[in-house]
Amino acid sequence: MIQVPRGTQDILPEESYKWQYIEKKLHEIAKNYNYEEIRTPMFESTDLFVRAVGGSTDIVNKEMYTFKDKGDRSLTLRPEGTAPVVRSYIENKMQHNVEQPVKLFYLAPMFRYERKQKGRYRQFVQFGVEAIGVEDPLIDVEVLSMLMNIYRSFGLKNLKLVINSIGDIESRNEYNKALVEHFSPRIDEFCNDCQTRINTNPMRILDCKVDRDHELVKTAPRMYDYLNDESKAYFETVKAKLDELNINYEVDYNLVRGLDYYTHTAFELMSDAEGFGAITTLCGGGRYNGLLEMMDGPDKTGIGFALSIERLLLALEAEGIEIPKDKGIDLYICTMTDEARNAAGTLLHKLRSRNISADMDYENRKLKAQMKDADRKNAQYTIVLGEDELDSRQADLKNMETGETVKLSFDDIINTLEEL
Ligand code: ATP
Ligand code: MG
Repeated sequence: MIQVPRGTQDILPEESYKWQYIEKKLHEIAKNYNYEEIRTPMFESTDLFVRAVGGSTDIVNKEMYTFKDKGDRSLTLRPEGTAPVVRSYIENKMQHNVEQPVKLFYLAPMFRYERKQKGRYRQFVQFGVEAIGVEDPLIDVEVLSMLMNIYRSFGLKNLKLVINSIGDIESRNEYNKALVEHFSPRIDEFCNDCQTRINTNPMRILDCKVDRDHELVKTAPRMYDYLNDESKAYFETVKAKLDELNINYEVDYNLVRGLDYYTHTAFELMSDAEGFGAITTLCGGGRYNGLLEMMDGPDKTGIGFALSIERLLLALEAEGIEIPKDKGIDLYICTMTDEARNAAGTLLHKLRSRNISADMDYENRKLKAQMKDADRKNAQYTIVLGEDELDSRQADLKNMETGETVKLSFDDIINTLEEL
């Protein structure tokens, strides 16, 4: 038997209503902050990710689904959303849009070849936002405010926002020099990846999952001490503004994030709910000031974050929060005879074309089984069609909640339901 590919899942109706609810809410919140949807292709030139995400990252080194198409082009299934959105900003010359920053969101599947774990899939859905075109601490704060509002709007409480500043490119270069000095004498005690990282992007050693408990990681120099005055001031403004909005956060000087392109504000949101499990990161993001120019784009800066619906669902589960179920259907038609079944088909067509949700039994079951089916489908009303009803073109419309019934003509049943 052929099974679903490893690390992917079918989202069945028992679960898909949750996704719909979450997606709707995310659209609403995006609207509140005036972010508009962008849809980019599911695959891109491999070069885009190699250049934008960075050759020293796990995503590019280990996790990409890369393939050659029949025209011998190297393409990659999108592993993250920022690079494609920035590509699109540059390609569509959005720096000339009247309104800056250009505020975009996406809600789309991402693909990474990862070891399957709870909360870690090879295809997962990210919601992400990007505000591109203006550098201002107020925008960093807007993005963080939106992030916190998203999680709070679902009733989540056990949230921990961790922030750091990576500084501007100058500060970052100074810091990287200090890290090389710090790690070089004992780099042979580190994993192979870190031995490469010290040459390509030393900051990423701080983010290593293998070496995170190494003494030298704990005693590493702090980014904060290498921030130049502008970078420090930027960070202080962001923090002051967060305080003003009563958004709680912790500063973690080791937070550098996985991608190569971050500058200034970097952040992650974790769940500290009991029972969430080993993976606690719900969302990550940050400012990327050098990215557009690095991609031959205009001298513009951006900030964004991405979260996955899969981990949001885990957080909801860990905090025992239930997503409201869909209301069910308006009408279920029970039938007693073949003629009644036939008439029900016609009636259903009329009901549905008038925007009334309705269904019937297709299995020729006994009345009792049909009633059970109506229950399962959460029908608000039912009617039973037999010989008498077909003769009189009338039926008892039964309110399933109150048990009340009213005798109405078929046309009036449609009218009544339409009014409700
Ligand atoms: P991690 O450290 O868990 O691997 P990451 O740094 O690779 O995360 P990002 O690239 O920042 O993650 O992606 C943003 C968010 O997307 C993460 O915080 C997480 O919620 C989610 N995410 C990342 N990878 C996966 C995955 N394989 N399956 C489900 N969700 C994921
Ligand atoms: Mg990862």
